[in-house]
Formats: sequence, structure tokens, C-alpha cells
Amino acid sequence: MTSLHAVRSAPPPGTDPLPQGGSPSPAGSALPGADLLAAVLAGTPEGEQPVTHVHRMPVRDSRTLPWPAWVSPELRARLEAQGVRVPWRHQVEAAQLARDGAHVVVATGTASGKSLAYQLPALTRLAEDPRACVLYLAPTKALARDQLGSVAALADPSVRPAAYDGDTPVEEREWVRRHSRWIVTNPDMLHRGVLPAHQRWSSTLRRVAYVVVDECHAYRGVFGSHVGHVLRRLRRICRRYGAEPVFLLASATVAEPAAAATRLVGAPVVAVTEDGSPRPGATFALWEPPLTDRTGEHGAPLRRSAAADAATLLADLVERGARTLAFVRSRRSAESVADQARSVLRDRGRGDLARRVDSYRGGYLPEERRELERALSAGDLLGVATTNALELGIDIAGLDAVVLAGYPGTLASLWQQAGRAGRAQRESLVVFVARDDPLDHYLAHHPRAVFGRPVEATVTDPTNPYVLGPQLCCAAAELPLVPEDLADFGGPAARARVEELVAEGALRRRPSGWYWAGRGRPDVDIRGSGLAPVTIIEGDTGRLLGTVDGDAAHATVHTGAVYVHRGETYVVDELCVDDAVAVVHAESPEWTTVARDVTDLAIAATDRSRSLGTVTAHTGVVDVTNQVVAYQRRRLGTGEVLAEFPLDLPARQLRTRAVWLTLDERAVGRAEVGDAELPGSLHAAEHAAIGLLPLLATCDRWDLGGVSTGLHPDTGAATIVVYDGHPGGAGFAERGFAVLRRWLQATRATVASCECESGCPSCVQSPKCGNGNEPLDKAGAVRVLDVVLDELAAAEEADATEGDGGPAPAPDRAGSCGGDADDLVF
Ligand SMILES: [Zn+2]
Ligand SMILES: [Zn+2]
Repeated sequence: MTSLHAVRSAPPPGTDPLPQGGSPSPAGSALPGADLLAAVLAGTPEGEQPVTHVHRMPVRDSRTLPWPAWVSPELRARLEAQGVRVPWRHQVEAAQLARDGAHVVVATGTASGKSLAYQLPALTRLAEDPRACVLYLAPTKALARDQLGSVAALADPSVRPAAYDGDTPVEEREWVRRHSRWIVTNPDMLHRGVLPAHQRWSSTLRRVAYVVVDECHAYRGVFGSHVGHVLRRLRRICRRYGAEPVFLLASATVAEPAAAATRLVGAPVVAVTEDGSPRPGATFALWEPPLTDRTGEHGAPLRRSAAADAATLLADLVERGARTLAFVRSRRSAESVADQARSVLRDRGRGDLARRVDSYRGGYLPEERRELERALSAGDLLGVATTNALELGIDIAGLDAVVLAGYPGTLASLWQQAGRAGRAQRESLVVFVARDDPLDHYLAHHPRAVFGRPVEATVTDPTNPYVLGPQLCCAAAELPLVPEDLADFGGPAARARVEELVAEGALRRRPSGWYWAGRGRPDVDIRGSGLAPVTIIEGDTGRLLGTVDGDAAHATVHTGAVYVHRGETYVVDELCVDDAVAVVHAESPEWTTVARDVTDLAIAATDRSRSLGTVTAHTGVVDVTNQVVAYQRRRLGTGEVLAEFPLDLPARQLRTRAVWLTLDERAVGRAEVGDAELPGSLHAAEHAAIGLLPLLATCDRWDLGGVSTGLHPDTGAATIVVYDGHPGGAGFAERGFAVLRRWLQATRATVASCECESGCPSCVQSPKCGNGNEPLDKAGAVRVLDVVLDELAAAEEADATEGDGGPAPAPDRAGSCGGDADDLVF
């Protein structure tokens, strides 16, 4: 969030703690959150208890500090005129660190006014030094535009904030370079536009005092690893012109923000994590739909869908006058949730209310958003089902309730969505409805994972050779590399990569350094993962819809696949592998598709091993050969297999990083799994482990792959492998190795606590299993995980020095969190 949220006036206890000044509730009749929840639950059938946990988020009063004496008086006057009487503590702490010359990351909650933390030192510096300038990097254009307005309102006229991105007309670019002192751009533009043309930018680059990296948790995985190098290149070029800018980063609350930011910038970064902003009260319920009589793959029981429960909740809440947003996964789902909610209301004789429920199916046009804001604020609309399009960049604070149908993938998104609720005077209600999925199931039963100290870390791996190599070429093309540069780019890994690049003829060694030896400039796509992306084209119109990652293309846009792009559903007419093009048409069939593949995995190198008695954990490099051989049509909702079609796609090689466990015969014996159960037990543990890694690393289960076998030729033992699904790895497997015990504890808890008898989508079945979820042995998986966890516990007792918690104190986002004594200790 970049909009300015600081203390406008310290609220007296018990009154509106929201700084945004949200409009008063026109409905005016909605109950407090806890009462809304009770009212909704009163309607659930006897014997059904979907709520697994209720968390009270008390009103949090603000903690402030006086204005630092160095803040420019004009800036302070402008802020005060906007109603910011006194800054919050984290804003001052971060601003002071940056003022003193430290790179700093402020990692606090949604709407905690992180922008003020960097605006104070940056704008003060611009006021003090009429030549100084600031580079501001945003991951999205919407955020960039927000930022322009915010800075323009605070800065003196000489700052001339301006955007320099793909949309900036060529004739304006020169003006921005010459005159703007607050340049709003993005990593892509730095990479392609600014750094390769650094001579043209030299007068700006020598004057850069601060570089602001907003929403830096967005830079993760392979893309984040590239961005890390773009920032290193920026620092190197600035140094060349005599500038040493201070980096100011803003992040969502994540685990280990200092470590993540340090990895991103390539220099030590200090974290400020204690949030001093006030927060309205809320009742936050975790909700898991019950198992039903319906069955899916191999007769597994299925839960009622999160969308169905979200629709009923939406109707219930609207009926009680609560202005409610329901977040769902796709636009189609938004429409169907709104439809279902309307029909529930009509069945109850409330056709009047049904008319006040809608789905947000507009695009991203500002006027459509404003109309929605207006209709919600005025109370014309009471309930809206939406995709995450309304998660950011829209001002509809002051809602009575928010329903989240399914985990949105990261805690940052979850809090962003939940933060849409929060209103004057009364506490609001947030309901997280779990999907039929291991991570959702885990979260529904482990409130501390949601409300406690965050365990999810923003993961990047700048030493990925597929990132490092191209980036070193870019750096050398900008300015010859000298040995001293290499420390920044990864030290020994960079040195080794440079030698390889020389051998490959990409770089040329000369006495004054390593030079780019190729023609023109290196062509490096920082959003790609190595394989050429596949272009998606709508056949009827020839319209270019977008691209999918090359790695994922065979599994997601094969001929016949049902593919959801930006919330719209399409069916693929043909995937042309040679041209890297998928031709699609808009269609929403009653089924989804799942690819079936065969995977072969060889261990290329073991980097680190950790012996745990009868079990050993490893991390290293693997070669994965994968071939998508068929796909299945599965009925929406139940997953029932309707038909299977063969596919003729070439096998593909992937060299990547992995984490793997080997269990020797004693371990297998202790787990009491016979030869017949062993493959299913390992396979089930692998599926659940893949489902749970996104709890600890900012990835998606689709970013990961796995292989398990009772006897792997390369290890000679029972083996479970989880690998990064991107060439060279993205840091996910490394993270899994580093937090192995927490990861497997969560995995074990998920499988053991699931009420199904022998495996279901909430525990060990995987929607992406290339083997049709066979064989799977749920009970055996629990016993295998028990043995591994026993060995890990024994090893850690022996070490007694384990723990990867950073020195920073945990942000107090949650308040008290009682009633989960069975929870894991994070
Ligand atoms: Zn289950
Ligand atoms: Zn599988």
C-alpha cells in the first residue's frame, strides 16, 4: 500500500481507530463481527460445525514517536495539513535508519503507512539538496501511479515526480531524465531501459540518494532472483558514477524480512517489523466445509466446496445488512458465487436483497472501480463476489465483513483481503473458508500459522546459474566486470560462472576485466525462467491474451486443456510446441483438465547432507526428465474422471535444485511399512509435503515437483524428493531443507488430522499428480513422517542450537491467540 495512512488524530479509546476515515456505514444496522458470526452459525444444520477457530483481533491503539528534528519543515507542514499529526513508531524508526545511511526494510501490516517511512528521509533529502534524486521501483503500474500522486502532493515543485516505464511516450523520456527528481519505474525498465543506457542516465545516476523498492515481497522465485541482480547492477553502476544510494524497502509481514531483503539487494539490510499503526477490531473465523457424501478420485470423500459455503455466507451476511466482499479464485467463480447467493436470498423471499448482490466482473478500469466503490459506500450494493482484482488499489475500507473462499496463496494477500473489512465503531467479521486442499486444511486447524508470527519467507536464489549467467553477461555489457565486482554477484559461484562464460565465448577476458563478447546486447527476459514462454492467442480474434511460463506450458496449455487466464476460462484448441503458441477459445465446460506425466529423476550433485540417524536429508542438483503423456477431463466440483486423452508431447529436461530424504531399512522397519505399502506411503508423504511447503516459502504447489520411490538407483534407499519446478531452482527446495522440521511437522499434522479414512484432496491427494494419485497410503505416510520427525528431534536435541528465527522481534499482528495448545511451536 502506498496511500498515506498515518495518524490523523489519535482516536480516543473505543472509537474509530481507522486512519483512513472510511465513510460511515449507510447500512448502519449490521451487527458487530462476533454477533454476525453467531447469527450466521445459528443457521447451520445440527451436527455441522464448520468453524474450527475464532480469533478476536482487538482494537490496537497506535504507537507514535515525535517528528524527527531533521524532517524538512515544509514536508512536515504538508503532512500535518493532510491530517498526519504525528508519525507512527515504525515509520520514524525506519526513516531514522535510512537517514543514518543504513539500508532498511520496513515489514509491517497492510495499511500501516509504509510509504511515509521512505518519504520522510527521501523527500527531506530532496529538499536539502536541490540536485539529489530518488528512484522508486514498484512491481505494478497501479502502485506506481498511486505513488506519483502521493509524492506530488507532498514534494515541492522542483521534485517533478514522473513515471519512466513502458507507457512513457518516447518524446517524454528525455524530459523525465533531465528534470524529474523522483523517478517512478520498475525492475523491467531498469533492466532494459536504464542500465544498458547508463551513459545517457549518468547525470541522474550520480545523484541518486535513495532507491525505494516498494512491495518487495513481490520479488520472489526466479523473477525475484533476476531482480536481485538488477539491483546489484544498479548499485555497481551508481558506484561507477560516485553515488552510493541507500535502499529503502517496504514489505508485507513475512518471516526473516532482513535476510530476504539482504539477499535481494546484495548488501546488509536492517528490518523494522514492529507495527505502530492502529487497527480496528475484528472477529476472524476459520471455517472448514464438512465432508460430504460425494466422492472423487478413488472414492475419496469430498468436502463441500469453499465457493458454495462462501455463497451461503454472502447471502446470510447480506440478509443481516452487512456490507460484504467475498474473494474467490476466478471471475467465473465470482459470477457463480454471486448467482448462488442471489438464489438463496430469493428462496428466502428476499428478492429485494438479491438485487443488491453482484459480482465484480469489470476489468481494471479506474472508473469501473470507482463506480463499485460508490455503490458499496452508498449501500446500493450490499454483497460483491470478486477476484483478487479488488485486493489492491481500491478504497473500500469500512466494510462489515469479508469472506475469503480459499487461501489466496500468501499471507500478504490474505491480510490484504482481510484488511478490506474494518469499520467505524463496530468490529468487523472476516471468515476464511478452507478449500479442499492440504494447505487450506492445515491453516483451518492451526490458527497460529495465520495469526502468529509469520513463517512464510520471501524466497529468491540469486546464485541460480540460469539467472547468474545471463545477469553477469548484462553486467559485463554495461561495464566490464572486474574481480572486485564478483563478491556482490555471488562470490565463488559468480567467479565459477564467469569462467564458464569465458569458455562458452560469451565473455572475453582482457587485462582490464571481463567484456561482453556477444553481438548487440544480451537478450535476457527477467520474467522468464529459461524456457521460451508460450504465447496464448484467441483463435477467433487473433487477440494476444498473454503468455505462460515455458516450464509449465505442457501441463497447463496442452491441446484440450481448460485454462484460466486472468479469471477467464478458455479451452486450448492446439498447442504448437515448435512455435511456442497455444491457440484457445473462450469456453467454460463443466469439467477441468489434469495432465498426466511420467517423471524420471537423477541426482546430479549433493551439496549438503544432514545425517539424522536412520534418515538423511539432502539438498543439491537434480536432473528431471518429464513427459506429459495424456490428460484427463474431470468433472468440476467432484473431480470425477470423465475421460482420458493421450497427448504426443516431447520429453523435457529440467536441471534444478531439490531437497530429498532417504530412509534406510531400519527407518522403514520402524515405520512398519511393508514392501507393498512403502511406495504409497512415500508418495502420500511427498504429496502432502509439496502441499505444505508454500506455508514456509512464497511459492505455490504448482512451482514444485516431486518424486518418491521405495528404492532410488542414485541413493540406494527409500527416497522422497521435492524439487523446484524452474530451471536452476528458485530457492524453494533450499528453504525446505533449512526449515525441514517445521515443514514436516506441518505435513504430518495435515495428514494425521484429516477426518477422511484413506486419503482425500485435503491431505494426500494432489490435483497435479502425474500418476493419477496412485498408490497412496495415508496411514503409512503418517508413520514414515513420524520416524523422520523422531530422528530430526533427536538430532536437534543433540545440536541444541537449531532455530532459524532472525534476531528481529516477531511483529505483534495477532494479539492473543488462545485455544490452540495443540498447535506447533513456531
Ligand atoms: Zn483427507
Ligand atoms: Zn503423485
